[in-house]
Amino acid sequence: MRLTAITIFPDYFSPLSLSLIGKAEEEGLISTEIVNLRDFATGVHRSVDDTPYGGGAGMVMRADIWGDAIDSVSASSKAKIIDLVILTPSGRRFTQRDAVALSKAEQILFACGRYEGIDARVGEFYGTQDRFRVHHLSIGDYVLNGGEVAALVVMEAVIRLLPGVLGNPDSLAEESHNDEGFLEYPVYTKPPTWRGVDVPDVLLSGNHGEIARWRRENSQIVSSEGS
Ligand code: SAM
Repeated sequence: MRLTAITIFPDYFSPLSLSLIGKAEEEGLISTEIVNLRDFATGVHRSVDDTPYGGGAGMVMRADIWGDAIDSVSASSKAKIIDLVILTPSGRRFTQRDAVALSKAEQILFACGRYEGIDARVGEFYGTQDRFRVHHLSIGDYVLNGGEVAALVVMEAVIRLLPGVLGNPDSLAEESHNDEGFLEYPVYTKPPTWRGVDVPDVLLSGNHGEIARWRRENSQIVSSEGS
């Protein structure tokens, strides 16, 4: 899978070289590409934004500059379909189900907004292009300064689902959010007693049937707002 991010702050993506994601890239399971939007800006100040039509506070990122950047990624891509993820607090709330769907993608292109966001015509236009599937995604009901952190959240949730990325793929089998509203049971390790708090006896019993029942009973069903 190829993961591309277009941003005015490429340095935000340095964590991609760390931990399991860094290792996944070293092993060729993924390839990442960070594109500086300013490389497509013209003018002395290489500015990528302008005042909003209709007036109001703040600045809006220009569609023409975004279009040139996305076209350039598209021109150098081998993918048949590019999933274009536009990060925005007004998008659909990103869930584990989206992560699973995106983990099947050939190439995901993350559009990281800044200021008041990206001119809405960018999403509209690429939504009409056969090669693109456009997703407007929010990582939660709060407002960040930019889409970079949100893109990293989506990337990590997707990449860890790819075959070979996690050391033990069984870790994925019983995770929270695999089924809607399901949260994994509490987990424990050594020592068996810590500061007077014991690990539940059943987990030390060696009785696999009882352990499975305890885990089922202690998995939580929660509302979409969490507990
Ligand atoms: N004016 C916008 C609004 O009220 O919806 C907020 C723009 S925000 C300051 C700048 C950028 O941060 C957005 O274009 C988006 O890329 C990113 N962003 C902020 N909050 C986000 C969230 N919850 N999920 C995904 N992206 C977010």
